[in-house]
Amino acid sequence: METQLKKYAELLVKTGINLKKDQILVLRSPIECAEFARMIVEIGYDAGAKEVVVLWNDEVCSKLTYLKAPDALFDTFPSYLKEFYLSYVRQDAAFLSISASDPENLKEVDPVRIQRYQRAFSAEVSEYRQRMMNNENVWCVASVPTPKWASKVFPDETVEVAMDKLWTAIFKAVRVNTPDPVQAWEQHKDALKKQMKILNAYNFKSLHYKNTLGTDLSIELPAGHIWLGGSDFTPDGHEFIANMPTEEIFTAPLRTGVNGRVVSSMPLNVSGSLIEGFELTFKDGRVVDYKAEVGYENLKQLLETDEGSLYLGEVALVSYDSPISNMGILFYNTLFDENASCHLALGKAYPVCVKGGEHMDSAALMANGINDSITHEDFMVGTKDLSIIGITHTGEKVEIFRNGNFVTI
Ligand code: ZN
Ligand code: ZN
Repeated sequence: METQLKKYAELLVKTGINLKKDQILVLRSPIECAEFARMIVEIGYDAGAKEVVVLWNDEVCSKLTYLKAPDALFDTFPSYLKEFYLSYVRQDAAFLSISASDPENLKEVDPVRIQRYQRAFSAEVSEYRQRMMNNENVWCVASVPTPKWASKVFPDETVEVAMDKLWTAIFKAVRVNTPDPVQAWEQHKDALKKQMKILNAYNFKSLHYKNTLGTDLSIELPAGHIWLGGSDFTPDGHEFIANMPTEEIFTAPLRTGVNGRVVSSMPLNVSGSLIEGFELTFKDGRVVDYKAEVGYENLKQLLETDEGSLYLGEVALVSYDSPISNMGILFYNTLFDENASCHLALGKAYPVCVKGGEHMDSAALMANGINDSITHEDFMVGTKDLSIIGITHTGEKVEIFRNGNFVTI
């Protein structure tokens, strides 16, 4: 276990962040993951970091704040935290985030409070968010089990066994269980990049999704769209892997080109609450109708974040027959669930998904059909019977997904 932990921490610093000598590493970690965080600090300095700074978060304190603090607090964002994000992002720091939380930590909290706080956060640190979405700084999101999260994933086990099982699943998902994880990631990246090139060569005009859950959705792709996957690069060529694990090939949809109905295929953990059994209906890109069996208010708040949260900002393809999906585990954590399933995102698109997008401001992106919003929330739509047909600019129909899986095209 100890060796695997170390291998994992090294993989995140060396392959995920690909930390450069004299670069600052900012680690955001839940307090439950302190032991692992300390390991990252040590490896970070050994890898030549100029500074490793840890920003801790405690979900219990967050919950107490959301439940008990005076209402006005949720429209403000602390100036010291603003300074923290902006000063580090401007110093070209690398950001490593540990995504681990009780999926239902905030279920008793009024979703309006959470949304107001997120709006305040986004407004104050928009430069930070923009630099992340443009890949101007390197960043990586990965996970470490916490007792409450593990118990939600494996409800019939004791906390100890649940923690062990979640570690095993994570190690498998990030290929730490292989003899040489760094080499395994090189191969994995190549495989994803191969698929990416095929899709880019087709330059599809639109995609049509259909399955028996009721999804029947047409998604136009913008001119100059780029499929990405495997790894990312900063403008000066620093390679990094933004999500570990990652199994997806993704691009941006045409903001106004989405029509039809899409039904979610997994519960979605948004800001500490679950939204389950939901569906969205789109007309000319905009959500015009929606339903949810569980968490309707949370879905409503998500959609009402701003105008852009009613539009799609990501189209991502993941085979149903893929390593994480085949574990048959519902992780209640988007980092894993999105890499087990085809997904879409509501909200901001990655500017790098369109030619020259990283040099465009919000107005130019919108003019090119690329959505903007203060939010970006992935939700899963892939099923065992999902079919996706690509339609080229000459009207040719190409089968991309059959029975949930990539067709070799
Ligand atoms: Zn994605
Ligand atoms: Zn996404």
